[in-house]
Amino acid sequence: MIIKGIGASDGYSIAKAYKFAHAEVTVSRQMIADVEAEIVKFENAVEASKLQLTEIMEKTRINLDEEHAAIFEAHILILTDPELTGGAIDKIRSEGVNADFAFAEVSNTFVAMFEAMEDDYFRERAADMKDVSKRVLYNIQGIAIQDPTQIKEEVIVVANDLTPSDTALLDKRFVKGFVTDVGGRTSHSAIMARTLEIPAVVGAKNAFDQIEDGELLILDGVKGEVLTGADEATVSAYQTKQKEYLAQKEMLKAYKDKATMTADNQHVELAANIGSPEDADGAVNNGAEAVGLYRTEFLYMGNTHFPTEEEQLAAYRAVLEKMGEKGVVVRTLDIGGDKELSYYELPKEMNPFLGNRAVRLCLNEPDIFKTQLRALLRASVYGNLKIMFPMIATLDEFRKAKAVLMEVKTELEAEGQEIGKFELGIMIEIPAAAVLAKAFAKEVDFFSIGTNDLIQYSFAADRMNEKVSYLYQPYHPALLHLIKGVIEASHAEGKWTGMCGEMAGELMAAPLLLGLGLDEFSMSASSILKIRHFMAGVTKEECQALVEKALLCGTEQEVIALVEEFLAK
Ligand code: PEP
Ligand code: MG
Repeated sequence: MIIKGIGASDGYSIAKAYKFAHAEVTVSRQMIADVEAEIVKFENAVEASKLQLTEIMEKTRINLDEEHAAIFEAHILILTDPELTGGAIDKIRSEGVNADFAFAEVSNTFVAMFEAMEDDYFRERAADMKDVSKRVLYNIQGIAIQDPTQIKEEVIVVANDLTPSDTALLDKRFVKGFVTDVGGRTSHSAIMARTLEIPAVVGAKNAFDQIEDGELLILDGVKGEVLTGADEATVSAYQTKQKEYLAQKEMLKAYKDKATMTADNQHVELAANIGSPEDADGAVNNGAEAVGLYRTEFLYMGNTHFPTEEEQLAAYRAVLEKMGEKGVVVRTLDIGGDKELSYYELPKEMNPFLGNRAVRLCLNEPDIFKTQLRALLRASVYGNLKIMFPMIATLDEFRKAKAVLMEVKTELEAEGQEIGKFELGIMIEIPAAAVLAKAFAKEVDFFSIGTNDLIQYSFAADRMNEKVSYLYQPYHPALLHLIKGVIEASHAEGKWTGMCGEMAGELMAAPLLLGLGLDEFSMSASSILKIRHFMAGVTKEECQALVEKALLCGTEQEVIALVEEFLAK
């Protein structure tokens, strides 16, 4: 059987399926005849939870450090709180109700109480309490708990959905790829798959239901397909494809230390998108000329608390030092949308992608924002830093965010801290900012076009929703006109424009963007050599002629046909 989805990360793999799910816990009120037996069941679940947490704590102590292990110690302590467990037992006894219902009621009261508190410390406790309670509920209901760090053999992970933090926990020594029912090419788990350089297929509808745990799968990240029940001949054909793919990767290595030059000797910069200091190694190994986007939110998402100024300084410094003189565009915190924090409750919104996210949230929470800006400015002495604000819609927002940066700079100077040179830019991912690029160009040092969001907002199509993924149209002339305006506006003011959305790494997009005059292309490190190889074979002049024709088209199909014709030459 062939299950079709969207190719999210190139490559092939052949391995056993590992079904991964966060089970939903639903709790309903039931009357219980044997109350004492129900209490024993509850006490056993609490004991089982404590044992699991102790094991996790010990593993964390060995694999990570004492500080992270302490989190689980705190979780165990929650379970020894008589008000919580005793409260549940009292409820089972006095109301004759089932253990999971009684426990959920009591723990929800605590969560609500913590959440209502002003203090961040207590709000974080609410998240801990939720985590622990979910574990207890799983144990009462006999639901097996899955943990991606436990995977210790070669598998392909099959899930309905993977959150960015699930993806961050995947160990690429064992996880040879993944397939998810939901998602599109620009959902964050897809982006992380490309960073990890493991093949992935997303938006594969009901793959989770169709695939049996443990069965042999062939994952084709190029075509976006998953094959089950393949015969020997098919397996061997894919083994050959896999070898050829790896050989092509080898060939491209010759371009690693070369500058990116077109056939008519024009230079453009190929940069890497990274999510952590470790990814900077992948950037360097794949011949990146810069880091065009450091998504700092992963530093926040992979954590149990807001990273402190010192923790952030260490991460930014590490990236800047690894890149030496090469530029590093660090984007300030961009949470919200599909990016959540386990220790910070984002407001429940009807449309999180249109809500209080990214720079909007930072402007509403100056303490969070200032801590990051202090760390960034302190890190500026260690390399070639470019600070970038995400999701800017209006000049006013940019000016407000810049004012906070300047305030922090004055504070640091008063403290006697040394601050190096840095550039300040914005992402262009909201159509209003793209349209008004001329005005922005007078005030910023650079633009970086975030097509993942710019396309989603231009076509009013959720980037996570595979039902409307047909509207994710990077080659649509409407988008090309927006990009053209942004690049021209920056050049008129002597500024530069990059692109850090996934489009920048697409082979099909390369001649169009080159023709439009894009200065910097920032992509998953694994795409850099392929694009450099391509650019060496085309002239900027012929790309300009191509894009002029493309700008006259009315549909994406027409543009694609032009590009295909161009590439076939
Ligand atoms: C974008 O929107 O294109 C972008 C690069 O940001 P993110 O994918 O993190 O939203
Ligand atoms: Mg974005």
